[in-house]
Amino acid sequence: MDYAEQIERIAGLIQESTGFYVLTGAGMSTESGIPDFRTPGTGMWENVDPIKTSSVEVLRENPRLFYEVGFTRFASIAMAEPNDGHHALVRLEKMGYLKGMVTQNIDGLHVKAGSKKIWEVHGHLRSGYCMGCRKGYPFETLVHQVELKRIPPVCHNCFDMLRPHVVLFGDPMPPLFFEAESVLQANCDLMLVAGSSLVVYPVAYLPQLARRLAIINLEPTEYDDAAEVVVREKCGRALTDIVRLLENS
Ligand code: NAD
Repeated sequence: MDYAEQIERIAGLIQESTGFYVLTGAGMSTESGIPDFRTPGTGMWENVDPIKTSSVEVLRENPRLFYEVGFTRFASIAMAEPNDGHHALVRLEKMGYLKGMVTQNIDGLHVKAGSKKIWEVHGHLRSGYCMGCRKGYPFETLVHQVELKRIPPVCHNCFDMLRPHVVLFGDPMPPLFFEAESVLQANCDLMLVAGSSLVVYPVAYLPQLARRLAIINLEPTEYDDAAEVVVREKCGRALTDIVRLLENS
C-alpha cells in the first residue's frame, strides 16, 4: 500500500467502527517542539536518562537533582502549543468518530487543543500537590518557587515537599489508567496508535485490547505485525489527511 492507500484504509476503518479510540505518545508532540524519548539523535534519552533525574526515588532522595534537571525539563514542556495532529484529533472527536483517547504525554496538548474525552494516564503539567497533606497547587506555583531557588518547593500548610501531578518512574499507575483499560476492553473495536514506540508498559499493553489496530509512527514498533495498517509518516500530516478524507466523504 502506498501512503494515499494507507490513509484511505484508516479512514475506512474509522467509518466502519463503532468503538474508535486513539492512543498517543511522545511522537505526537515532536512537531510542537518537544523531544520524544527514543528518536535517534534528538530523543531525550540520548542526552540525560530520565530515570536518573525524574524518578520518584530521585525526588525523595535527591530533590535538588530532581528539581534542577528533571523538573526544569517539565517546565519547558509546559510552554508548548498543540500542532496539526492535535487539532485533527479534536476534529475527529467533534465529528463523532472518536470515542476517546489515551495519552502517555504529560504536556497537556490534547486538552489545550480542545479534546474532551481524554485519559492522561501519565499525568499532566497543569498542577502539583503536597506529598504530605495532598493539598493541590497550580503548576506555576512550583515553577515560581524553583525560579526563586526555593528547592524543593514546599507546601504553605504543612511544609512538606511539593511534586508535579505526573506519573514518575517508580510511581503506581493512577486509577484513571484502569478506568481507560476497562472502557477499552468493553468498547474498543478499533485503536489508532499515533507517535508511540509502544515499549513503555503498562500502556504498551493497551493495543492488545483492540479488535483492530492501525499505527502512525516514524519508526517500527513491536505491534506493526498485528496492525492492519502501518503509516510511516508524521502524525501531523497523516492525521490531517485522514480528517480531510472523512470530511469529504
Ligand atoms: P517514545 O519516545 O518511546 O516513542 C516515540 C515514537 O514516536 C518513536 O518511535 C518515534 O519514531 C515516533 N515519532 C517521533 N516523532 C513523530 C512524528 N512527528 N510522527 C510520528 N511518529 C513520530 O515515546 P512514548 O512511546 O510516548 O514513550 C515515552 C514515555 O515518555 C511516555 O511514557 C511519555 O509519558 C513520556 N514522554 C512524554 C513526552 C510529552 O509529554 N510530550 C515527551 C517525552 C517523553
